[in-house]
Amino acid sequence: MRHDAIVIGGSFAGLSAATYIARARRSVCVVDTGLPRNRFAEHSHGFFGQDGAAPHAMLATARSQLAQYPTVTFVDGIAMSAAKDGDGFSVTLATGEKLTGARLVLAFGISDELPEVPGLAERWGQSVLHCPYCHGYEVSGQRLGVLYITSKSIMQSMLIAEWGPTTLYLDGIAEPEPSVLAELAKRGVAIERAPVKALHGSGSRLASVELVDGRMCEIDALYIGPRTRLNSAIAEQLGCELEDGPLGPIVRVDAERMTTVPGVFAAGDVTRGAHTVTWAAADGVTAGLAVHRSLVF
Ligand SMILES: Cc1cc2nc3c(=O)[nH]c(=O)nc-3n(C[C@H](O)[C@H](O)[C@H](O)COP(=O)(O)OP(=O)(O)OC[C@H]3O[C@@H](n4cnc5c(N)ncnc54)[C@H](O)[C@@H]3O)c2cc1C
Repeated sequence: MRHDAIVIGGSFAGLSAATYIARARRSVCVVDTGLPRNRFAEHSHGFFGQDGAAPHAMLATARSQLAQYPTVTFVDGIAMSAAKDGDGFSVTLATGEKLTGARLVLAFGISDELPEVPGLAERWGQSVLHCPYCHGYEVSGQRLGVLYITSKSIMQSMLIAEWGPTTLYLDGIAEPEPSVLAELAKRGVAIERAPVKALHGSGSRLASVELVDGRMCEIDALYIGPRTRLNSAIAEQLGCELEDGPLGPIVRVDAERMTTVPGVFAAGDVTRGAHTVTWAAADGVTAGLAVHRSLVF
């Protein structure tokens, strides 16, 4: 069966797109591996009407509501590749099965490349955080830190200082310019210059940053701005243009969320430099409407 649309990635962006396609009475197949980017966090903050809800519960509700529409099918599996196929597209799954559709929506998200500091990965989304707007309120006023990864970490530390006393861990990089040091001092950001050896604490909590010189710095939450990568090579396989996002490649789209390949749309984190569930869902709505209109006109 040829679907009107195939959505690759069934999370906040993909399920939103599929909902609008289904509400337009078109057939849509959602392919998903069930690994949303915020699965490491117990709570999702800031989404209208769902502040503090569990990410998996939000997605389970959205998926069960979408499943009520008779034109929707779900495939729990990995989309391995996609290609132009006549006037539509084919998607090949890891099982070898092939799906065909008139339109594609790429909503497969991105992954964070965490620095290899012992004790960091197991605290990601709990006490090692990426976004103060998502999780900063809960740790405000506590001992905060920012680990230097790129030059953007300096700006990040100035921002985090809005939420509490902040230390920038330079992790052994070259000394910043005097003007930068002056700006950090003006905002009350303390600096630790020594390389970071490990993070310590009980369970997912953070208690201290161990430096290579043996000192232990007390801390409650550490922010990082990790580099990111697209979860799939499918955009490149299709010939969609990519562009540089602030921390990794993203798929170039127009205002209707269409990529540079006609008939291929993209939504959510794969298309933007700043990421929230709200923006991902909104992108999905835009892409879903655009898919439908492109099928009509
Ligand atoms: C630790 C952490 C906490 C966060 N907390 C918040 C918060 O509190 N509030 C907030 O607004 N935002 C938060 N975010 C950001 C939020 O997670 C993202 O903006 C949002 O998940 C993006 O939605 P998406 O649908 O674009 O991608 P994702 O949610 O990442 O979903 C992508 C989907 O595609 C699937 N997929 C990937 N590859 C394939 C493939 N080849 N075939 C089939 N399926 C595939 C994945 O399994 C996944 O289900 C957080 C991010 C992180 C890292």
